[in-house]
Amino acid sequence: MSIQKGIAELDPVARESALDSGVVPKRQVQIVRGEASTVWDADGNAYLDAGATFGTNHVGHRHPRVVQAVKDQLDRLMHVTLTWPNDTRLGLLERLVAAAPDGLERAFLCATGTEANECALKFARQATGRKEVLYLSRSFHGRTMGALSATAKRAYQEPFEPLVPGFRMVRANDPEALKEALSAETAALILEPVQGEGGVLPLDREYLKTARDLTADAGALLIADEVQTGMGRTGRFFAFDDAGILPDLVSVGKGLGGGLPVAATLMTQDVAAKQATLSHGSTFSGNPVQAAAAAAVLDVLKDERLVERSATLGERMLDDLRVLEEVPGVRGVRGRGLMIGVELKAKPQPVLESLRLRGILALSAGATVVRLLPPFVLSDAEADHIVGETKAAVLEQTTGADAA
Ligand SMILES: *Cc1c(COP(=O)(O)O)cnc(C)c1O
Repeated sequence: MSIQKGIAELDPVARESALDSGVVPKRQVQIVRGEASTVWDADGNAYLDAGATFGTNHVGHRHPRVVQAVKDQLDRLMHVTLTWPNDTRLGLLERLVAAAPDGLERAFLCATGTEANECALKFARQATGRKEVLYLSRSFHGRTMGALSATAKRAYQEPFEPLVPGFRMVRANDPEALKEALSAETAALILEPVQGEGGVLPLDREYLKTARDLTADAGALLIADEVQTGMGRTGRFFAFDDAGILPDLVSVGKGLGGGLPVAATLMTQDVAAKQATLSHGSTFSGNPVQAAAAAAVLDVLKDERLVERSATLGERMLDDLRVLEEVPGVRGVRGRGLMIGVELKAKPQPVLESLRLRGILALSAGATVVRLLPPFVLSDAEADHIVGETKAAVLEQTTGADAA
């Protein structure tokens, strides 16, 4: 079929909007290039990336070591399935397990965070022989039917009901509610140690510890969804490290691929031992090009000490942004590492548009939060620039004043 009449004459942004399914509203800028912390639009305007990639930019855009690893792999082998062992895939598994805390000794590789959660949910049911899954209020775990069934957002769930049976929501940060909900039927509790999409909401340290103890007592598994928080985003390799706990299953994604779609479900030996042969799988699981990228990302995080960088830079940005708490239109400023939220008393879109005009691409979270997820390779000057412009944009939009 030829493209509908009239579309060919539109500008590229409108053309993409006309051909895309349309479910994701588009900003009015075509991004065509990226390097380190910066992306450029088709007119050559530069933007600092504090959310243009949903927080997949831990090592920045096109990190030279990631690009080189991918190019080398492209010249050798682009795909072979899990049935056939592969040197590059082995390199990723070794690095991933070495980076994880003791006890998480095996991994299933896949492409997206949602898939990593689907794997965790299936493995939890199979390992326990139980059906019920508990998830928390304000959670986000993905949009396929299983992960969506654990996502506490009515607008995302409702059009697609009936969802997967056996999923039940419990109130976040409420140990009593959790105690009441857990039973001999519970296969797992799935949680994000810092809820991202829900509004940059860190779960209490004590709650995480209690959740670990209570699930273990009930014979249920604990799944940590570290898709957004993992690989150092919160200033620690995993956000659950902060509570000193060890989940049974951990899903990672987003930053793992350095810009390519790579995700994984880490698990204990015990969980892996209880999976039946061929009860899970995927055509592109462990794809060597993805694996080359992810292995390089893990090397870069380590060699450039980027997790530490996320911690120190995040603290500095957060400290600086805290003055916004004095502003009447601001409810609060919070975050961990380079996962930062400024909660307003109104919708964040006008602030996001003001930031774009100031050359910074940020994200929303929840109904009222401006979310910053910048790369860990951000320079001090770039970090200060993002903070300064965020303050100015929030002031401008909440008080009408120009704070520049
Ligand atoms: C982004 C995200 C997902 C979904 O990952 P996709 O790669 O979009 O499938 C799941 N859980 C959390 C916490 C996320 O932030």
